[in-house]
Amino acid sequence: MTTAADAGAADARHSGITVAEPPAVTLSAAPDRGEAAAHAEALFVEAFGYAPDGVWSAPGRVNIIGEHVDYQDGLCLPMAISHRCFAAAARTPTDRLRLRSAQDDLILDLDARELEPGAVEGWPAYVAGVLWALRPHISGASTQGMDIMIDGQVPLGAGLSSSAALECSAAEAIDALLSLGTEPLQRVQAAITAETDFAGASTGGLDQSASVLSRAGHALFLDCRDFSTRPVPWDLASQGLALLITDTRAEHSHVDGEYTARRADSERAAELLGVDTLRDADVAQLQELLAGIDDEVVRRRARHVLTEIQRVKDVDALLASGTVREHVTELGALLDASHDSLRDDYEVTVAQLDVAVDAARAAGAHGARMTGGGFGGSTIALVEAEQAQPVAAAIASAFVEHGFSAPEFFLALPSEGAGQDR
Ligand code: ADP
Ligand code: MG
Repeated sequence: MTTAADAGAADARHSGITVAEPPAVTLSAAPDRGEAAAHAEALFVEAFGYAPDGVWSAPGRVNIIGEHVDYQDGLCLPMAISHRCFAAAARTPTDRLRLRSAQDDLILDLDARELEPGAVEGWPAYVAGVLWALRPHISGASTQGMDIMIDGQVPLGAGLSSSAALECSAAEAIDALLSLGTEPLQRVQAAITAETDFAGASTGGLDQSASVLSRAGHALFLDCRDFSTRPVPWDLASQGLALLITDTRAEHSHVDGEYTARRADSERAAELLGVDTLRDADVAQLQELLAGIDDEVVRRRARHVLTEIQRVKDVDALLASGTVREHVTELGALLDASHDSLRDDYEVTVAQLDVAVDAARAAGAHGARMTGGGFGGSTIALVEAEQAQPVAAAIASAFVEHGFSAPEFFLALPSEGAGQDR
């Protein structure tokens, strides 16, 4: 099909004017789950020379709204994405833990009884840590030997939680192989413990909850105070809508320090307001509360956390009273407000995140925001399904204009949490 733009470009070429070609964009949907599980099984056979006992998988996630509120006992609304991590695994009559990944050359082969924090380097720590964290559920007499082949589809380090997908797929596999019979929440906890206590990374638990507990066609309302959850209808596809994820591929070098500083600011705000956490503050009194905080920076940090928790409540109320389609304008406005608050009050965005969000809005997205911890990572845009491609193209063009490296695009369907595939 020749479009008016093509014709214009052709005219421009004839007249000798150079027109920048819009960058080609690919929206990557996850490969078929059944085929991907079969592929993981084949990789296992190739690596270990025999067939696995089964294949288990767990998804990555995006947070729809509720950012930087988890450590203040806040509320958030993640959803599992269709990109998953697969773990093909078998129990062996030994105590050797042997791990491989299709995404990384590092191989682990060690005595499972010798697992302890700090003993395992690199990615295998996330998997070995799950076995270590599940120990209280393992009866003393049984051997713990197993072979695991990992094959992940979630891009690493893009803020889509490949680490939780990895841990939670391992937790499903280990639970089944050792017949532990743990509850989903116990596997969530084991995955969190693996990441924080064994691998030494910091995580609030949102990622692991979403990866294990999500339901297809739903987002997951998560109360970070007590980790209670409930599914919230978020079936975009049937309503002609889509969530476009843009991995900006921006990197930032002092992320840990920035997170620590934001946490400290929000703790200071809670202290000044005389509450244990900002969740306890009465948002109906927002102006009075803020007026009581002298430090201008701490005041803005508090305003973000307080208004963001309220926005999650507002989204939840909208989705309780109608479909995404019926409330698409209000939902989009709440996503926009969340981003603006993270940019101006919480100051965790970088230029790539702001440019991606601005370009998405200008190209007709209902709403757009950064998702995840910020300082790089990904954005989401709520769009009409048929607008996903042009909105992605607009973001890609904006990145070219700003001289940023090319972003990557994913379409996120609200997917099922961790489980067995084969
Ligand atoms: P994110 O969770 O946002 O993707 P993290 O830094 O928390 O970013 O986790 C990324 C790390 O998780 C990688 O550096 C790697 O150690 C590990 N990881 C995740 N998926 C895999 C995989 N399929 N194979 C090997 N390592 C993986
Ligand atoms: Mg992670």
